[in-house]
Amino acid sequence: MLAKATIQSLNSLREDSQDTTPVNATPALSRRGFLKLAVLSLGGLAVTPALARVATAKDRELFVYNPHTAETIRAVYWTPVDGYLHESLRDVSWALRDYYTDQMKIFDPRLLDQLHTLQLIMEYKTAPLHVISGYRSPSTNAMLCRRSRAVARDSYHMYGMATDIRMPGRGTGDLRRAALSLQAGGVGYYRRSNFVHVDTGPIRTWGY
Ligand SMILES: [Zn+2]
Repeated sequence: MLAKATIQSLNSLREDSQDTTPVNATPALSRRGFLKLAVLSLGGLAVTPALARVATAKDRELFVYNPHTAETIRAVYWTPVDGYLHESLRDVSWALRDYYTDQMKIFDPRLLDQLHTLQLIMEYKTAPLHVISGYRSPSTNAMLCRRSRAVARDSYHMYGMATDIRMPGRGTGDLRRAALSLQAGGVGYYRRSNFVHVDTGPIRTWGY
């Protein structure tokens, strides 16, 4: 779990999008109130009701492809008996590493739960989810920030809390709607670039 100090500093992060007014953004305070009422505990994992609908006592698996490294990983990362499997978390995190620098960070397991749940509710089983961008080192994020106004200086990508994803063969708009239904964090819609950003920060949404 994240240390308390880390969580506090993460709470002060800006949204991934700097220049777009978020639509349907939920203030952090009301989200906390909502979570206090609605969070369920399932298998030791705090989940929102949207996640609870698909979270079961079955193993949780991820099937992911990184187009930048041409690497595919298919791994069970959580079981009802053992909970999160640290080796799998490490393997998945390596597949989602900063491909500019080969640096990695262990991902927030809640993000893996979001990706797993999206694969379930989109019934995307036989092909891997494409991760366009996973972890970004501070130097890589600064470089991308200089290139594009859509990249935030304090992006959740730098904390292993965000991925940019697409499901080839499926509409990005459908993927966005599925991600919003989780009510589990930030959802950015990059229609022209054909991907959806999902993170484990406060619930909010934006689009380009
Ligand atoms: Zn992103």
